[in-house]
Amino acid sequence: MPKEDYNPPTTRGAQTKVWEGGGRVGVPPFGRAPKKIYIVGHKNPDTDSICAPIAYAFILKKKGKNAISVRTGEINPETKFVLNYFKVNVPETLKNAAGKTLILLDHNEPSQSPNNIDKAKILEVIDHHKISFSWPEPVYFLTEPAGATSTIIAKIFFENKIKIPRKIAGILLSAILSDTVVFRSPTTTKEDIEISKKLAKISKIKNLEKFGIEIKKKKATLRGQTSENIIFSDFKIFDFFGKKVGIGQVEVCDLKEVNERKEELIEKLKEICQKENYNLLLLMATNIIKESSQLLGVGEINYLEKAFRKKVVNNSLYLPGVMSRKKQVVPPLMKAFKEI
Ligand code: MN
Ligand code: MN
Repeated sequence: MPKEDYNPPTTRGAQTKVWEGGGRVGVPPFGRAPKKIYIVGHKNPDTDSICAPIAYAFILKKKGKNAISVRTGEINPETKFVLNYFKVNVPETLKNAAGKTLILLDHNEPSQSPNNIDKAKILEVIDHHKISFSWPEPVYFLTEPAGATSTIIAKIFFENKIKIPRKIAGILLSAILSDTVVFRSPTTTKEDIEISKKLAKISKIKNLEKFGIEIKKKKATLRGQTSENIIFSDFKIFDFFGKKVGIGQVEVCDLKEVNERKEELIEKLKEICQKENYNLLLLMATNIIKESSQLLGVGEINYLEKAFRKKVVNNSLYLPGVMSRKKQVVPPLMKAFKEI
């Protein structure tokens, strides 16, 4: 047997036909059990990082490989809902990659890989993020600027004409809806939408918008989180012309949730602002359904008023159409700090 007998379905051009059915599928060539291949997404896994590996393991098993999908951390409530919905088992946890043979999905940064990745063998990488990968040996590396890794995996099914079981189509679709925020994210491509429609047919999901929002609702919530968690879960510090500005962002499906806890959140913001000497401290609550944000601000809120030409009432400011901190909040704020 040649040393390198791994030929993934992702190779384009000199395409290996994937076997479907037939008695020999899964029979190793010389009676020796094939080496186990662990397919894994990134740490702190999201729905894409759990579902894409499950689907890719299915493809490799069809090719007769001893493939298993694994995870590196707890699944979130959204992913739990998706796996439950399509009656798919939660993958086992991989605690240590040392000595294992891996395929990395939905990431290509070593810091996001399982522990001891440097002591593992990597066969393949399939991802849709910016490339930050370097490896001492040649690997199959497939990235596309798709909205989700699950879009790429679905394409592999279609290109190889592998029949997708309903539950696999369902979890791939869910992951695409999740990663693209139900096609609202600027990362969404035409292909994501086309492939989602195909997957929706197979998985018998009639209303993509409704189903997608149902999925997102499981996680985009403040429920069960302390005010400190909410403020710091996605937090960035800026220096605007010598002024210290902090901006946290959180996703919700309904701003009612924010208004209900507004006083508590503002109290916490004030406490942090004082303790850590911020000139301005903001929490940006983004309504992913209505594509708008509510800003809660403490400190020198005159900058906030200048940046958005709106009066701040009770430490609060509503901004329709604003979803991106990086593109829609930081630039006008920075300008305001420059001008005053
Ligand atoms: Mn991900
Ligand atoms: Mn992804």
